[in-house]
Amino acid sequence: MEYCFGVDIGGTTVKFGLFSQKEGLLEKWEIPTKKGSEPTPLLKDIKVSIEECLSKNGLKKEDLAGIGMAAPGPVTEDGCLRGTVNIGWGDVFLGKKAEKLIGVSPVYIGNDARVAALGEYTFGAGKEVSSLLMVTLGTGVGGGVILNGKILSGASGTAGEIGHITMNLDELEQCNCGKKGCLEQYASAPGMVRVAQKALMNTDKPSVLRNIEVLTAKKLWDAAKKGDALARELTEYISKILGVAIANACYIVDPEMIVLGGGVSQAGVFLLDMVQRAYVENVFPHCRDKKFALAKLLNDAGIYGAAAMVFKQ
Ligand SMILES: [Zn+2]
Repeated sequence: MEYCFGVDIGGTTVKFGLFSQKEGLLEKWEIPTKKGSEPTPLLKDIKVSIEECLSKNGLKKEDLAGIGMAAPGPVTEDGCLRGTVNIGWGDVFLGKKAEKLIGVSPVYIGNDARVAALGEYTFGAGKEVSSLLMVTLGTGVGGGVILNGKILSGASGTAGEIGHITMNLDELEQCNCGKKGCLEQYASAPGMVRVAQKALMNTDKPSVLRNIEVLTAKKLWDAAKKGDALARELTEYISKILGVAIANACYIVDPEMIVLGGGVSQAGVFLLDMVQRAYVENVFPHCRDKKFALAKLLNDAGIYGAAAMVFKQ
């Protein structure tokens, strides 16, 4: 019983990891995500993939302590995945369904951002702390809170959903969630591009950003690092919104550490320092002294966190 699978179900690919309790990650691979109105076809693909890996490694289902799964939707404490916008499923008890279909039990299920936070907490940037808030800056802004080793799910499975904290009551454009003024509209990769494009239209300040054909968040941060004044002003503005949102979250959960992850966080220490400065300048004095760190596991945080759900039991 010293093995488990960590499975991270995303909108385009499903990532797998075979883990041993002693040696950690042994093998990882991915398959395309089969979308549809319900999860059975995808769970069948997962079953085939897992069985192939077991037989290749001379293992049996009896050798597994279980399977951990991360999925892109809110998950309640009792294991209900409440709709996945990117894949098309409605409410489903995915763990129970997977146990029956795959023939392995138990199967634990968690929200992808929360599970990634558990991965960083157990194996990555947060190994030395007792609680953390992870903020994932990617296509959207995800979030997860780990308190004393446990994912904080909340009554409706949405605890930690920091991307949809309202940061601007006067925003006119709509967020993907239907609200207006969400953090995600400013601090996700497309959100940052949106902020930059608006600024380029509204000022005549010179900037290298004007010469870029397809502006991306990475190009914005690269320009700021190289000293472009407008890019610097924009990244400071975005960092302030992020710092304030993190401060707001800290009043509720007061974690020991903040971890920044997701593709945009690869702007590195430059971004981390800017967000931390904005946090310190905008937070209640008693909360100032927090550790800030960059995520270490990058794209593997989901499979690591999924494995941690199994091995922690
Ligand atoms: Zn939103």
